[in-house]
Amino acid sequence: MDRSNLYRRFRTLLIANRGEIACRVIRTARAMGLRTIAVYSEADRGAMHVALADEAVLLGPARARDSYLNVERLIEAARKTGAEAVHPGYGFLSENAEFARACFDAGLVFVGPTAGMMTAMGSKSGSKELMEKAGVPLVPGYHGDAQDDATLAKAAEKVGFPVLVKASAGGGGRGMRIVRSAAELGPAIVSAKREALAAFGDDRMLIEKYVDNPRHIEVQVIGDSHGNLVSLFERECTLQRRHQKVIEEAPSPTLNAAQREAVCAAARKAAGAVNYVGAGTIEFVSDGKDVFFIEMNTRLQVEHPVTELITGIDLVEWQLRVAFGEALPLKQDEIRLNGHAIEARVYAENPTKNFMPSVGKISTWRLPAETGGLRIDAGYREGDTVSPYYDAMLAKTIAWAPTRDVAIDRLNRGLEESDVRGIVTNIPFLSALITHPKVRANAIDTGFIERELAVLTSAAPAPGELELCAAVAAIVNEERQAAQAEASSPWQTFGWQPVGRRQRSFAFRVGHGPEQKIALNYGSGLSTLVIGERELAFTITAKDGGFDLTLDGVKSSVAAVIDGHELYLRTRNGRFDLHWVDPFGGESEEHVGEDKIAAPLPGTVVAVLAEEGAKLEKGAPILTLEVMKMEQTLRAPFAGVLKSIKCKVGDIVQEGVELAVVEPTGE
Ligand code: ADP
Ligand code: ADP
Ligand code: MG
Repeated sequence: MDRSNLYRRFRTLLIANRGEIACRVIRTARAMGLRTIAVYSEADRGAMHVALADEAVLLGPARARDSYLNVERLIEAARKTGAEAVHPGYGFLSENAEFARACFDAGLVFVGPTAGMMTAMGSKSGSKELMEKAGVPLVPGYHGDAQDDATLAKAAEKVGFPVLVKASAGGGGRGMRIVRSAAELGPAIVSAKREALAAFGDDRMLIEKYVDNPRHIEVQVIGDSHGNLVSLFERECTLQRRHQKVIEEAPSPTLNAAQREAVCAAARKAAGAVNYVGAGTIEFVSDGKDVFFIEMNTRLQVEHPVTELITGIDLVEWQLRVAFGEALPLKQDEIRLNGHAIEARVYAENPTKNFMPSVGKISTWRLPAETGGLRIDAGYREGDTVSPYYDAMLAKTIAWAPTRDVAIDRLNRGLEESDVRGIVTNIPFLSALITHPKVRANAIDTGFIERELAVLTSAAPAPGELELCAAVAAIVNEERQAAQAEASSPWQTFGWQPVGRRQRSFAFRVGHGPEQKIALNYGSGLSTLVIGERELAFTITAKDGGFDLTLDGVKSSVAAVIDGHELYLRTRNGRFDLHWVDPFGGESEEHVGEDKIAAPLPGTVVAVLAEEGAKLEKGAPILTLEVMKMEQTLRAPFAGVLKSIKCKVGDIVQEGVELAVVEPTGE
């Protein structure tokens, strides 16, 4: 087939996305000499991708529907700036066949497959029909057109419980429910359909056998417009939460060479069935023995960097060359697997509060340098604002090494050296996850995170002697730097002071824990720190991001950030968040409206679960809110009577708005 009208050389590329993926695409496009055009919403005026691009076009209001998902505005932005091609990134319109077609109709090259291929592979049902014909192994299930209750119930019975009810148009783990018995099926279908209709505008369902404790294995493929198609090995993405990937690695530590070749061959067969052009991923679940096709993603994947690191191939460069109409640069037998790569998705979310997204201004953004096998793909910088309108992924930290063990160590070190303040991130959770002995041993399945949640989100260890000393040292170090900024001081290293001996007392605590006291003795002679009966000599030498602390003759590196009375420390024992109890008072306990049932973030009311006048136990569900991508159930803060509900299903509510009132009973 002649595809010269679809794929041809261009000089100007519009990136129809935001965040880290827009930044990542811009980086390669610029390296290839292309002029880059960013697009942005009103919420993203100051965003990093806008700053990186050569030009940028405002699409419209913050809501994705009015900006990043608005096909007309995007085509208009391309026209205005003379863009000749569009890269869709992932998410948003990347798998939208109508958008691919609209680009083609406007004379733009779409960096991706044709609308026809997307339609064929985009629906999970349709693609499974194709795969069945091509002889690719499927999970047993039903993916027919008939959608009435009786048909779905009969199909589930035939497949055998447990089954997975899945939105055919689904993505990002949404519109999916595990059903363990016939009685649960009806309600599960209702709620999956509701979620699917809201998210994808399509509520068709398919039913699959639920593979217990499976692994997720996927294969990167890429095809050109001359009929060449190669696979670039597999990725293992088994560490998931709510069917969304958290950690991804390549190659899979689970497969041997023969299994690797088999799954890659199955993926080439799957993509070959539609003569696939562009980058894509064939996803499988595995029961530990066999792999079964679940879906194809007709776009670049979030986790593509791990494949890039083990193959040395820049996938965005290959995507662009395919879009230019070039042949793939390498043949299958020229593609080599080298070493091991592992990626962690850094999110603005709070793992100890059910992964509630966190929004606000990033006051500190310190990620390690991209050396020693580390790669950072970020979409934010210090001073940027994380808004509630989009996916909360901030960056990806990716490590490569010759072996899996070393790659994990490098990734962990990269995470430990990361410090992001102003918003809550999942960085400590990611560290706990990748250093878990079962992850190291690859003894995992997709339910691992959920089962180990308590361990993975457990509170940090209590600060010890080293941390208390480091806290005082951090304060002293900062005060000294402030003083030095005013007048140049003769002391390079703290420790020796001119006259008289003085003492200063400090108290710190973690959360609502007990106060821990420490005194600093300074003045003539060596400074010391006193904790209880112990007196320790110390010196500090400032360096970037912290200082070296020599305590009792042992030097160790401390990362420190002081934000008012909050101290963040990283010592050799881990991360510590300390509160400096102000000796001059002014302490006010923080009470975060715990008796008020209010929207924690802007969201949509999707269900009201209790009636006015109802008697509620403490913790009883009152209503469900969809906040960003997640459903969040608001519960009774104490036993009481539901006085009133101040919203209804479908309401879009702003942050802090009171949604219900509970009156406490008794006492
Ligand atoms: P999405 O489009 O949301 O990515 P997928 O079909 O790829 O949907 O499934 C997402 C995840 O859900 C998979 O990675 C896997 O962990 C889990 N999953 C999907 N299908 C099955 C199944 N049949 N049995 C068990 N787990 C499954
Ligand atoms: P993947 O396997 O790449 O995670 P999914 O089908 O699970 O693919 O989801 C696509 C990805 O697109 C998600 O991982 C998510 O981070 C990203 N995404 C989804 N919605 C948005 C959005 N509104 N903005 C930016 N990224 C998004
Ligand atoms: Mg998937």
